[in-house]
Amino acid sequence: MKNLVILGSTGSIGKSTLSVVEHNPDKYHIFALVGGQNVELMTEQCQKYQPDFAALDDEIKAKQLAENLKNLNVKTEVVSGQKAICELAADRHVDMVMAAIVGAAGLLPTLSAVQAGKQVLLANKESLVTCGQIFIDEARKSGAKLLPVDSEHNAIFQSLPPEAQKQIGFCPLSELGISKIVLTGSGGPFRTKPLTEFDAITPAQAVAHPNWSMGQKISVDSATMMNKGLEYIEARWLFNATAEEMEIIIHPQSIIHSMVRYVDGSVIAQMGNPDMRTPIAHTMAYPNRIQSGVEPLDFFKLSELTFIEPDFARYPNLKLAIEAFAEGQYATTAMNAANEVAVDAFLKNLIRFTDIAEINRSVIEHIAPIEVKEIDDVLHIDGLSRELAEQAVKFL
Ligand code: NAD
Ligand code: MG
Repeated sequence: MKNLVILGSTGSIGKSTLSVVEHNPDKYHIFALVGGQNVELMTEQCQKYQPDFAALDDEIKAKQLAENLKNLNVKTEVVSGQKAICELAADRHVDMVMAAIVGAAGLLPTLSAVQAGKQVLLANKESLVTCGQIFIDEARKSGAKLLPVDSEHNAIFQSLPPEAQKQIGFCPLSELGISKIVLTGSGGPFRTKPLTEFDAITPAQAVAHPNWSMGQKISVDSATMMNKGLEYIEARWLFNATAEEMEIIIHPQSIIHSMVRYVDGSVIAQMGNPDMRTPIAHTMAYPNRIQSGVEPLDFFKLSELTFIEPDFARYPNLKLAIEAFAEGQYATTAMNAANEVAVDAFLKNLIRFTDIAEINRSVIEHIAPIEVKEIDDVLHIDGLSRELAEQAVKFL
């Protein structure tokens, strides 16, 4: 039995992880479930999975949870706050940590798991976007095994040779005969919408992804393709790829989840139905394979697989992310923070869909370039960028 902590168990990835656990009850023991505020769902999850610990970020909500569990006679011990969450992620009994808290809130708990040398199933892409070098260095130091959960990065990982899989964060791509990392994306719900109608896009339209069912923030990011921009940054860190070694292709059907090109002309792709339980199960069982509950891919039901070049006029956030990476860690941190604020404001109907990219660009331009050496630098830039983005939202 492997002891598992799920950071973000009440979210979309967390629920899919629990579903994979249910398909493999003899292989995984839930040591801790961690969430933000959702007391009702956390109560249900504790009742069902009987973890040793449960944590909510919010102290008052955690008290309610403890009360609920006491009434239900569930023995799970309840803790609260970020420090306690970081301790759970690093606990010596823990083998693997699913890092699936959304946004910058996931940074410290994820880092804690990395520093403790755990097998880290990395869904929280913001960790690499804001602290790429710090995370890679810490993983190298502690011996933590980083396994990408994001479907594209998981597909790339699966398409790499074993020597590269062993050196995540510092693999010598060209020495291994790899010429390019090919990141695919669906293009989101507005791939064919006339650009003149973009100003009028509503939150409900933006969160309705054609292929994937995901949390709200990442769904909006998929619509603006900021998600692909964040994934571009994530891929550059995970696979130690140069700008020339990266390629982005729109593939509307989301059947190929990403690919690797080799110098001899071979292209290796990973395919499957768009269901996050496949990459989650892969990272949980690596290097073995387990049941995930995902339907087998039926080739005869696929009408066609198509590929299109991304259009930066339609997806300005994608271009911004590529430029921000070239600019440096401060710029990707600023962009990520600005984007979290802007997406939140868009979801609350405070700004237009097209304002998101404008706010992101303007925040990067207003942040003074500094060298990011430690996590405090990241948190400092993150805080400043959020303030700037909030001002921009008020101004609009
Ligand atoms: P979600 O919004 O559905 O869930 C987020 C989870 O984080 C919830 O459990 C919430 O309670 C928890 N949380 C929020 N703030 C917290 C805090 N301060 N402390 C503790 N817990 C907190 O999000 P999601 O779609 O599951 O995405 C989670 C992460 O995985 C994100 O970083 C996202 O980019 C990444 N990811 C998601 C998908 C997907 O298909 N959903 C795919 C690839 C990557
Ligand atoms: Mg993805």
